[in-house]
Amino acid sequence: MRAGEWQGTMALTEPEAGSSLTDITTMAVPTDEGYYRIKGQKIFISAGDHDGVDNVVHLMLVKIEGAPAGVKGISLFVVPKKRIDDNGNLVPNDVVASGVYHKLGYRGCPIVQLSMGDKDDCRGWLVGEPHNGLKYMFQMMNEARIGVGMGAIAMATAAYYASLDYTKSRTQGRKMGQKDPNLPPVPIIEHADVKRMSLFQRAVIEGALSLVMQCSKYVDFQKVLGGEDKEKYHLLLEILTPIAKSYPSEMGNISISQGLQCLGGSGYCDDYPLEQYYRDCRIHPIHEGTTGIQGMDLLGRKVVVKNGQAFLLFINEIEDTIGAAHKYNELRGFANDLNSTLTTLQDVTQHLITIAQQQGPEIFLADATLYLEFFGIVTIAWQWLLQGVAVQRELDNGAKKADQNFYQGKMFTLRYFFAYELPKTLGLAKRLLDDDRMTVEMRAEYFND
Ligand SMILES: Cc1cc2nc3c(=O)[nH]c(=O)nc-3n(C[C@H](O)[C@H](O)[C@H](O)COP(=O)(O)OP(=O)(O)OC[C@H]3O[C@@H](n4cnc5c(N)ncnc54)[C@H](O)[C@@H]3O)c2cc1C
Repeated sequence: MRAGEWQGTMALTEPEAGSSLTDITTMAVPTDEGYYRIKGQKIFISAGDHDGVDNVVHLMLVKIEGAPAGVKGISLFVVPKKRIDDNGNLVPNDVVASGVYHKLGYRGCPIVQLSMGDKDDCRGWLVGEPHNGLKYMFQMMNEARIGVGMGAIAMATAAYYASLDYTKSRTQGRKMGQKDPNLPPVPIIEHADVKRMSLFQRAVIEGALSLVMQCSKYVDFQKVLGGEDKEKYHLLLEILTPIAKSYPSEMGNISISQGLQCLGGSGYCDDYPLEQYYRDCRIHPIHEGTTGIQGMDLLGRKVVVKNGQAFLLFINEIEDTIGAAHKYNELRGFANDLNSTLTTLQDVTQHLITIAQQQGPEIFLADATLYLEFFGIVTIAWQWLLQGVAVQRELDNGAKKADQNFYQGKMFTLRYFFAYELPKTLGLAKRLLDDDRMTVEMRAEYFND
């Protein structure tokens, strides 16, 4: 695998265990030979089997026979498609691709169903200690979640530049108020509504990219620093990972949709790449934990972890940026807006924690996805303010003439985010502070005719 000749997978999902891995049933029976016999099924495994490599090695979540119920009984195994026999030859390991999924997008990658042990000859090797599998898998999953965010940003960025090219060359209509039909039509980027759609895309992708880079910096700090600092960046990563996964994934889809919209009918056709990006990007809010699961992880675990320490560190980081922004006249208004939204976020969080204590987890977490959305908008506003500080510093230092348009563009996009996106938190806060429990009270049978 290190030589890049074999490929690896993360094999978690089963027909009856997707979001809830507690319920996996793939089983491992110990032998005296140093390996376990594996039996079960996995579904939706990315690159689970193909002939581009000689072997595929699955890192698989499995329960050892007799293990305790729930996540505490899950272990991690290496289960290769082919194993090495006593003569050093690669031989089949009774792992069969029993189905291939036909997908909306992401078609460069085969996603397969795997059957292990149909012939009672599938061997697996335990990784680490028994029953600690989910913990080990999360080491990889946290990195993979930031990777999913990065992938979503990459696609949305490609879509943004493709749509920008189009809007600069496609001419249609005239400027508002120009009634003379003899005047030439203008490029559509001249229309305010097209500029709005383009600003939206840039605000999403450059804001989200900034967050993912911030998280990558924290990963490095966590690795190289010691003591309290190590813990600090670990906790910051804990609380920001659900945002780094879900904000680019959800907003990347809307961003690509807006990019496609800029192309009108052409956007819907495969002469342009937007329709493919639109299909490909839809997976991001689903895999590596759906957006709903990220919301519950953020509110139910990360915000309350260690008496809210991660949440406080997050607030401190933003307050530092607000302090830095206050030094620049151009940024003071944005800094004040973010400060008051941050206060609202703290109020909402406190309100929800009180609900958790008084009314239990179902009501507490009913709108966790909306809380995640609120948190995400605040986080990206922070990242835009950080960029604003960097821009103003460069402008004060006499930025080169060739960079002026770039910096002006950055400042307009910052303005856009604070004028169009940040106010969305007002509606979210209203809902999150509301005592109407309708989604809990609504009954499944009421959805019938
Ligand atoms: C293209 C693709 C590639 C994939 N690659 C891999 C891979 O390489 N390895 C792997 O192991 N898996 C992979 N998956 C599987 C993926 O991780 C799962 O599909 C995902 O975790 C969701 O599980 P599920 O499909 O069973 O949906 P479900 O868990 O059934 O969820 C359905 C819906 O119900 C919601 N929901 C579920 N439980 C709750 C709850 N308790 N509270 C509130 N809402 C809830 C979810 O948020 C979701 O909206 C892949 C899937 C796809 C489509």
